[in-house]
Amino acid sequence: MDARNCRSCGSLFNYIGGEPICASCKKKMEDVFLQVREYLDEHPHATINEVSEEVGVSVKQIKQWIREERLTLSDATDAGITCLVCGVQIKSGKYCDRCKTKMQNDLASVTDKPRAQEPAQKKESNGNRMRFFQ
Ligand SMILES: [Zn+2]
Ligand SMILES: [Zn+2]
Repeated sequence: MDARNCRSCGSLFNYIGGEPICASCKKKMEDVFLQVREYLDEHPHATINEVSEEVGVSVKQIKQWIREERLTLSDATDAGITCLVCGVQIKSGKYCDRCKTKMQNDLASVTDKPRAQEPAQKKESNGNRMRFFQ
């Protein structure tokens, strides 16, 4: 058992993985998340700041949801979320489509490479000794 303090309310709870947040705070967060998503459904052009004020959730939290690809912003919204590689504006996740594709290709080329096996080293001391006896 791994007891930790909830990062949100500070109470001790049984930590099972993921973010250190207790069950009741997680539930609260889930409710807020649904409110944010609902708000975005009704106001697709809302900015993050607007959503933050209307729903009462931090801009940081909204951006985190966008990074986790739980929220996707409409094209009209300036989310301030950028690709972590090239810095281009994206609507969701961490990377733009171009960088994602490139990373997948890089990964594929690494795993495709055949592994060079080191040849077993031969000991040649025997040969030298034989010559010594002649
Ligand atoms: Zn809590
Ligand atoms: Zn990129």
